[in-house]
Amino acid sequence: MVVGDVTTGTEVLVVGAGPGGYVAAIRAAQNGLDTTLVDRDAYGGTCLNYGCIPSKALISATDVAHDARNAEEMGVYADPLIRADEMQEWKAGVVDQLTSGVEKLCKANGVNLIEGEATFVDDSTARIAHGGEGQGSESIEFEHAIVATGSRPIQIPGFEYADDPVWSSRDALDVEEPPEKLLVVGAGYIGMELSTVFAKMGVDVTVVEMLDGILPGYEDDVSRVVKKRADDLGIDFNFGEAASEWVEDGDGIVVTTEDEDGEESTYDADKVLVAVGRQPVSESLDPEAAGVEVDEHGFIATDDQARTNVDNIYAVGDVAGEPMLAHKASKEGIVAAEVIAGEPAALDQQAIPAAVFTDPEIATVGMTEAEAEEAGFEPKIGQFPFRASGRALSTGESEGFVRIVAEQEADFVLGAQIVGPEASELIAELTLAIEMGATLEDVASTVHTHPTLAEAVMEAAENANDEAIHTLNR
Ligand SMILES: Cc1cc2nc3c(=O)[nH]c(=O)nc-3n(C[C@H](O)[C@H](O)[C@H](O)COP(=O)(O)OP(=O)(O)OC[C@H]3O[C@@H](n4cnc5c(N)ncnc54)[C@H](O)[C@@H]3O)c2cc1C
Repeated sequence: MVVGDVTTGTEVLVVGAGPGGYVAAIRAAQNGLDTTLVDRDAYGGTCLNYGCIPSKALISATDVAHDARNAEEMGVYADPLIRADEMQEWKAGVVDQLTSGVEKLCKANGVNLIEGEATFVDDSTARIAHGGEGQGSESIEFEHAIVATGSRPIQIPGFEYADDPVWSSRDALDVEEPPEKLLVVGAGYIGMELSTVFAKMGVDVTVVEMLDGILPGYEDDVSRVVKKRADDLGIDFNFGEAASEWVEDGDGIVVTTEDEDGEESTYDADKVLVAVGRQPVSESLDPEAAGVEVDEHGFIATDDQARTNVDNIYAVGDVAGEPMLAHKASKEGIVAAEVIAGEPAALDQQAIPAAVFTDPEIATVGMTEAEAEEAGFEPKIGQFPFRASGRALSTGESEGFVRIVAEQEADFVLGAQIVGPEASELIAELTLAIEMGATLEDVASTVHTHPTLAEAVMEAAENANDEAIHTLNR
């Protein structure tokens, strides 16, 4: 029989096996729903294959080399050798272990797995084209569908990712032979994380950014700490410039940028990494064929239960809008699966943390001081610098601070901003505080292990109430 003749039925069809889709599929199956998960590429989506995990693997490996090279203050002398090809092998092992884990978990939970590209025919049928010649296609009739098709890097005119010297973030994560000179276009979180990786490999990194600073969206005193460290690493920044073209020049390339007055600058490089943001992927699925509305950027609008404008179709993760983060995708996936199963689930946007794995890390959750004021609160602020933390000093990483934003009268935590060592881990305590409606008093009176970085969270809470012991109250 030709595969194209087959039509099967499923209660829940999930399109996309990234952290939004595979988590949704597992939870739907756990709820007893007959669930089919389809992906045209690899289990784990962008996050496991081309995003969070490979980038963090390279960040950790280059941190080891950088820390060893700079530990003379601690009396440690080392001259580590980086073998980028072996680093890639190790990274690939980490990715393989996780992606095969996703496949096993899906199977163990009874999810039907299909490889292929899904396209909606209408609001209850999808066609799955299996990759490769002669592989054919099949039809699936579904009661509910969850769209989790993710996002891809934005391209800028004149910089085609198919051209060899032009890298997307995905290309940059696979490099076995680092270039001598790298030009990075964009100082958002992906541009900054990867610039740091390459600088720590010994690559001469230059960043051009259209705006007037790094990491738009973060407060100045937060991004300043990261910028200072990036300056120390030798990364060269050029703000207020947009990349306009590149040409070959001998063995390398020359990239031209323009400022807002049309003034041009040129940069020599071997490769150019374009990291100017990501855009949703939805066109191959043809959501409109199912009646699902897509905005002019390709995003699918959803409510707090991940529902689209079509009753039985849900959308989760990057395709459903900002913040484009793996944990937001997974949480939405769980909500969609539970709503389909008839449970009273909904997404609470206020306690979604975000982390940037630069050196040092940044992590935030909830409101900043300005956002709290805008929302009508009279916030009180507590701050604790890592230079006053015994643990931070003993690890040689004492730049940055923990800041907590709280409500003046009722004392509950509204938000937090952390820049410094292990910020991505420390933010979990304050995320839980917001989720539980905890007060500063709750955080401050919780006994924290000594000596740990987490004590800085307790101290910041004490500081907000003018009860700090290890820093002056403000
Ligand atoms: C370099 C980099 C670093 C990152 N670091 C972090 C981080 O540290 N923390 C964090 O939270 N986030 C990070 N992200 C973002 C994170 O990867 C995304 O937010 C997350 O992957 C979104 O999950 P998703 O399930 O929505 O989509 P994706 O992970 O993009 O998965 C979508 C899947 O859908 C499949 N698909 C698409 N269309 C179809 C179709 N028509 N038929 C079948 N299959 C289809 C794709 O093949 C893909 O596997 C990073 C991203 C990048 C690029």
